[in-house]
Amino acid sequence: MRTLGLIGGMSWESTAEYYRLLNEGVRDRLGGLHSARLVLASVDFAEIEELQVTGQWDRAAELLVDRAVALQNAGADAVLLCTNTMHKVAEPIISALSVPFLHLGDATAAAVLRRGLTKVGLLGTAFTVEQAFYRDRLIAHGLEVLVPDAAGRALVHRVIYDELCPGVAEPASRDAVQQVIDAPAQRGAQGIVLGCTELELLIDPDQPNVVPLFATTRLHVAAALDFPLAD
Ligand code: GLU
Repeated sequence: MRTLGLIGGMSWESTAEYYRLLNEGVRDRLGGLHSARLVLASVDFAEIEELQVTGQWDRAAELLVDRAVALQNAGADAVLLCTNTMHKVAEPIISALSVPFLHLGDATAAAVLRRGLTKVGLLGTAFTVEQAFYRDRLIAHGLEVLVPDAAGRALVHRVIYDELCPGVAEPASRDAVQQVIDAPAQRGAQGIVLGCTELELLIDPDQPNVVPLFATTRLHVAAALDFPLAD
């Protein structure tokens, strides 16, 4: 079995989900006492969030490149960045690595295309939905991407940073985010990408919904599970 390297802590609430899902996936495939071979570099999210809000993306990139290289040196055969937002600095990380980087946007787009869909709504942090880096990755796969209106984007952003990252799941926020999910669907989105690794801690992606929900933590894990067990 090959070893996966996780750059986590953004937030650790969703990194814990990656850890659980990767181990369950290996157990389900290999049975018995098998579990995933993993190395984890978990950052202090307060430090990263400060760099995000002050626009210091180059500094954030340096920090995450350093963690990615540490994972490679620790024996990782491939690296996952366990956050949609920080894929803004995916390119410098990819350039610094000699092992594969399993891109979350690629795993997400592949899942949407497998369902035969081409037009999706995207929910996530303001960085993810308002800047081009993530949408462009989906668009490069042939997808059309709709985003919520300004009020919807602000609401989802606030719920992510003020509630989900610190580990709170409020029923009222679940209802409010569900309304934001429904809006792009009403404008013709055939599916909704939960483009933040904490959103599926609030919204059950398996619940009946007007259009399918694409939960990025689960999709990233599912794509990554093929890697350690490949011949
Ligand atoms: N985990 C979130 C994401 O997938 C947000 C936290 C972050 O800013 O990295 O975008």
